[in-house]
Amino acid sequence: AQPLLSVRDLRVEYMTPGGSVCAVDGVSFDIGRGEVLGLAGESGSGKSTAAQALLRLLRPPAVITGGQVLFEGEDVLSMNDAQLRAFRWRKISFVFQSAMNALNPVLTIGEQIADAIQAHRPVKKAEAFDRAASLLKLVGIDSSRLSSFPHQLSGGMRQRVVIAIALALDPPLMIMDEPTTALDVVVQKEILQQITELKNKIGFSILFITHDLSLLMEFSTRIAILYAGRLVEVASAKELFHSPKHPYTRGLLNSAPSLRGPRGKLVGIPGSPPDLRALPPGCRFHPRCPEAMAHCRSDVPDVRTFGPDHLSVCHLHSR
Ligand code: SF4
Ligand code: MG
Repeated sequence: AQPLLSVRDLRVEYMTPGGSVCAVDGVSFDIGRGEVLGLAGESGSGKSTAAQALLRLLRPPAVITGGQVLFEGEDVLSMNDAQLRAFRWRKISFVFQSAMNALNPVLTIGEQIADAIQAHRPVKKAEAFDRAASLLKLVGIDSSRLSSFPHQLSGGMRQRVVIAIALALDPPLMIMDEPTTALDVVVQKEILQQITELKNKIGFSILFITHDLSLLMEFSTRIAILYAGRLVEVASAKELFHSPKHPYTRGLLNSAPSLRGPRGKLVGIPGSPPDLRALPPGCRFHPRCPEAMAHCRSDVPDVRTFGPDHLSVCHLHSR
């Protein structure tokens, strides 16, 4: 079957006065119907840039300079403005980390959800409010909250409202960029639980972006790991947890104390991600890699597959 979303060789560059800086460098992945693809990596790895590119939300100096994005077979990168407007929210909606702070402080929750519906569908106010009430219920908020203002709600409730707005037009795909990072752990878990239930009930797909691999393990079908603008490993959540192939993935797993061993045994990854303006030659991870070999410093590793749904990009696999 055709995947819902198919991304091939996506490339995004920042056109700076000092030259172009490549933030997303040849990234490819698919998302199937009903699937949750987790996209993980340290900050600055290109996760958000890649996600925004899918909806063409990037503004100069960020420019998509290559690749293909197909959604239900439709070529997103060649859409004109009118086509894009019809595409966003209806086909793919987007929940940002700080979205809960972007709610309008002087409008009630009901007005904001109804406005979002009416911006895309020719329905009367009363009908839009009915829909707003059922959307609120869907995300576990009593419909009496329709007349509340954002400041009267907790952070967790506001983020649920944003998710309700993202669900308003029944999009087949929802992109969530660190949607719960600003919330405390208990609320995070609650919201993720709820999103999973909604997903199972309604049947949409999710691209879920986070730096927190432990969240993804519970929540994703498949996981893609990004390092310095390139994918280094893609696998099912199960395989990634039980047999991670790439040294960077192993480092990330070791950095998550809740996943491996007792607290205090946090190994992590020494150093920090490279400056994209001065990338290391060969494997971009080599300055931090505990298993680096001589040729890692000069030769770019090839993609190696392990079964139908697992790939890793590292010289260790061809020793
Ligand atoms: Fe480490 Fe070499 Fe593999 Fe890069 S290619 S992750 S440096 S072993
Ligand atoms: Mg980000």
